[in-house]
Amino acid sequence: MESIKRNVLLNPGPSTTTDTVKMAQVVPDICPREKEFANLMKGLREDLVKIVHGDPNEYTSVLFCGSGTINLDVCLNSLLPAGKKVLIVNNGAYSTRAVQIAEYYGLSHIDLRFPINRRPDLAVVEKTLKDDPDVAVVYTTHNETGTGLLNPIRELGDLAHRYGAIFVVDTTSSLAMIPIDVKRDNVDFCMASAQKGIMAMTGLSFVIGKKDEIEKSKEYPKRSYYCNLFRQYDYFEKTGEMNFTPPVQTVYATIQALKEYFAEGEEAKWARHTRVFNAIHRGLDRLGFKDFIPRELQSGLVVAALYPDDPNWDFGKVHDYCYERGFTIYPGKVEKKGMFRLCALGAIDEADIEAFFKVFEEALNVNRIQIPVIYKRNEQ
Ligand SMILES: *Cc1c(COP(=O)(O)O)cnc(C)c1O
Repeated sequence: MESIKRNVLLNPGPSTTTDTVKMAQVVPDICPREKEFANLMKGLREDLVKIVHGDPNEYTSVLFCGSGTINLDVCLNSLLPAGKKVLIVNNGAYSTRAVQIAEYYGLSHIDLRFPINRRPDLAVVEKTLKDDPDVAVVYTTHNETGTGLLNPIRELGDLAHRYGAIFVVDTTSSLAMIPIDVKRDNVDFCMASAQKGIMAMTGLSFVIGKKDEIEKSKEYPKRSYYCNLFRQYDYFEKTGEMNFTPPVQTVYATIQALKEYFAEGEEAKWARHTRVFNAIHRGLDRLGFKDFIPRELQSGLVVAALYPDDPNWDFGKVHDYCYERGFTIYPGKVEKKGMFRLCALGAIDEADIEAFFKVFEEALNVNRIQIPVIYKRNEQ
């Protein structure tokens, strides 16, 4: 096998993959309508439910061909009964995306906003549920990838259930990293794409959720043809296949990635991401960078660091210097504040972060950016 250049991706997905996952895509051509391929997808669907410790009699997974946003679209347009409302607990860019989807479909919704640098106020969520008996779906984002804030899903799910609503969580940037147990965490539906926590390739996304709720949704208003959850589920149940052409090579890569996931183990994998996250903080602290949100609110997967006020700071130049040397960092603007993100996703470890910070420090020096970096005002 020829060796493939290894890049360390510190962007919020897609993530660095192993060579074995990359090579798993190179397989003989196959028509995905063959039994052989359907069998592969069956095992894949079962493994996805195992990742979140779902009881296979209660939970199933449904695959879609698309980027992670397809899952948000699918869940929102498919799981809302006629005359009911979705309550979106919104403290970040990804829950805002869910609000936009609700607006596109004209879904009756409540955009319950909280500051992006704080956890939602559970008392306010409860009051909203108490005041509005029409809420049938509570929706939020687990790890708000823009800031790296972790939301309290177990508590929110508990509230949703106490007021008779189902709980849907966007776990795209936490699933297969932060241990999730759908029962314990009160999750009825969660979701992700293959290229983040699972460390496979782009193009395959999946919703994991309660079978009986999917069955019930058969009777709900049909708001999309391609992105209807029941439709895709039903086709899988009857034929073992996706309704339309699956991303064949990504399915092979994902199956390999899942083998590697279970071989590494949930706890060991989370410990590795935590090592990476701590190494990122050590490096940033040493150079004097400030976090956008307090450390105790962080998911352990994404660090959003504020741009320094140094007149020589130029993210593009720093990025390019690192990129040319195999390290990808990611910009982001939140509430008019410039910041960049370093993420602990992917098949990387502490040593990669140490190697990155050597290059990053060089990039600061080459661009005459003062170390430790300077900030004009106190941000926090
Ligand atoms: C990555 C991500 C998505 C999906 O984004 P795509 O660009 O469609 O892959 C959705 N939600 C969260 C929280 C994410 O991090």
